[in-house]
Amino acid sequence: MTAQDARVPVLRVRDLVKEYGEGDAKVRALRGVSLDVERGDHVAIMGASGSGKSTLMNILGCLDVPTSGMYLIDGADVGRLDEHQLAVLRNRRVGFVFQSFNLIPRMSALANVELPLVYGGIGQAERRARALAALEQVGLSDRVHHEPNQLSGGQQQRVAVARALVTAPALLLADEPTGNLDTASTNDVLQIMDRLSEAGRTIVIITHEDDVAAHAKRLIRLVDGEVVEDRRQAPVDGPPPRLKEGAAAG
Ligand code: ADP
Ligand code: MG
Repeated sequence: MTAQDARVPVLRVRDLVKEYGEGDAKVRALRGVSLDVERGDHVAIMGASGSGKSTLMNILGCLDVPTSGMYLIDGADVGRLDEHQLAVLRNRRVGFVFQSFNLIPRMSALANVELPLVYGGIGQAERRARALAALEQVGLSDRVHHEPNQLSGGQQQRVAVARALVTAPALLLADEPTGNLDTASTNDVLQIMDRLSEAGRTIVIITHEDDVAAHAKRLIRLVDGEVVEDRRQAPVDGPPPRLKEGAAAG
């Protein structure tokens, strides 16, 4: 059901409309959004509060459905998938990072990262190996047995990034991933995103912080549910420095 062809955009979005409510209470959160995201792109979506960013993100992440319009993930027309195909797509093709981390309490970092693989039906040995590799990618090899409340906010968000990556998704979606973090932890998460982007991952990040958006290769701006700007931007200077294991307690 999916096309691995490198020429197929990871995301193809056409005339997406999302309305909430009925009659006088009706809110048009998205008013016809169209965009393509090519493989390996790193896109920031910006906009004021209420401009439709989370609505768009939830639809792209298959957590909500549009009122009209269509979108393809990795070549698969999401509106035409049945429940099962949708669940598989959501589990394997999209990795989600939320502002509030959304880790499961009283489960180790390792168990949290393994969880999408449990749902994906992957055997225990492979699960463990892939989760450990994902935690290493975010510099947390020395924290794998810690539970969320034993980790700093920045470390929890890095666990969440590892959990999003562990299925090797076609697309990494992040909604204000640094919104709850201090400057040092924000920089850690941004460095990880930069390295993932350099390694060819496709990333779409929602943020209202200019310095976060500056890391992306492309900037899309939403106003009242419409794309008003879509442009390429020069990358921030220099290669991202390597993150030390367990770096930054922040
Ligand atoms: P952003 O993430 O950019 O702040 P949202 O996508 O959350 O914006 O919201 C866009 C608009 O849709 C806002 O006017 C918001 O009040 C409205 N909205 C969002 N979710 C709902 C909902 N579940 N029911 C009704 N209105 C909603
Ligand atoms: Mg939002």
